[in-house]
Amino acid sequence: MDGLDFEAIETAVRRRALQVAARAVERRLNTDTSDHRGSSCPCPCGQAARYAGRRPKTFQTALGEMTLERAYYDCAACGRGVCPRDRALGMEGTSLSPAATRMVGLVAAMVSFQESSELMDTLAGLPVDAKQVERTAEALGREIAKDERAVVEPAPPSAPTMYLGMDGTGVPMRASELEGRQGKQPDGSSKTREVKLVTVWSAEGRDEEGTPVRDAGSVTYSAAIESAATRDTDAVPSEFAQRADREARRRGFDRAPRRVVLGDGAPWIWNLADEQFPGAVQIVDLYHAKGHLWEVAKAIYGAGSNLGEQWAKQRRDELDEGKIDAVLAALRVHAEANDEARKCLDYVTRNRHRMRYPEFHAQGLCTSTGVVEAGCKVAIGTRLKRAGMHWTVAGADAIIALRCCKLSGRFEDFWERRSLAPAATG
Ligand SMILES: [Zn+2]
Repeated sequence: MDGLDFEAIETAVRRRALQVAARAVERRLNTDTSDHRGSSCPCPCGQAARYAGRRPKTFQTALGEMTLERAYYDCAACGRGVCPRDRALGMEGTSLSPAATRMVGLVAAMVSFQESSELMDTLAGLPVDAKQVERTAEALGREIAKDERAVVEPAPPSAPTMYLGMDGTGVPMRASELEGRQGKQPDGSSKTREVKLVTVWSAEGRDEEGTPVRDAGSVTYSAAIESAATRDTDAVPSEFAQRADREARRRGFDRAPRRVVLGDGAPWIWNLADEQFPGAVQIVDLYHAKGHLWEVAKAIYGAGSNLGEQWAKQRRDELDEGKIDAVLAALRVHAEANDEARKCLDYVTRNRHRMRYPEFHAQGLCTSTGVVEAGCKVAIGTRLKRAGMHWTVAGADAIIALRCCKLSGRFEDFWERRSLAPAATG
């Protein structure tokens, strides 16, 4: 057996075995003409489509290419072609079979459309070009986004203390998506749109120092480019507030004995927390607060100065010890002359009840948004913020929905619902 090229054998045999299987399934389907519904059949436009014979179409399937002959109906009213079999098999308006669609969805949730195309070819032996990956993944993502809004199956909380974190992160957009929008560029324009993310987790575990550690497998995400601001005159909460509410109900956050909302200092987070989750403990991320003080030290004393370092260290110790008044006093000294110090003074004043760190630690609560920031990076950044990527809002939202679904361990449930309702796709 020496000198045997086993890889060549396994690859060739797999290809051959799949071809044989594909031909068998193809024959079986093509001899079955029960999809002929007479001389006409209803078109989705409401008119009747006329029978125009059996027509072949080549599909990519888990077994490779398959050419199926299907009863074809022509609609004179809207120009559409209707194939009852495509609908019955869940392949209406696509050349990918359900199994191939699922594969494309899963890879495109994880890597770029181009890489997905390469992986489909290498791993599954299916030629699906990058453009088709994009179309398929975005269509699937839109279905998932719709499903996410429609289906909320409340579960009991997975731990006595449940955490809910919110954050925003910019995603690069195509110029056409940004026309007329205010942004942070020097000329007042914008290059990104903000994706808002809500994440729910538990942290019952402790490390050697007794610090809460998030429980493996407990993190779920939901995100979209949405507004979080609800005006007093609005009849319903903002889109993102509704999203956060759905995620909270899905995870039993709303019913947990102890509920904690974590975030940085962004006012929208705390407005939303007040409106949607009254009574939850609110905590401003400790590291974010410390980072703020560090920025102030740099602004007052210059980068790399010893004095500045000492100043920042004192303030951070005061934060750790719960001496908020001391922090405020130190900031007040510089507030008049220094913009950063004044902004930080406002920030600490506004959030002081969310910065009672010794109290939170004594209660065994997590005071870091590490999970939320990692969530932004994992759920959004690594897939949507890669070099050269520019999105449309619709495209970004679809891929975000797809990715959050996958990363939250919900893809299988979604797929089951989708398989049970094939006629609802498209
Ligand atoms: Zn029609």
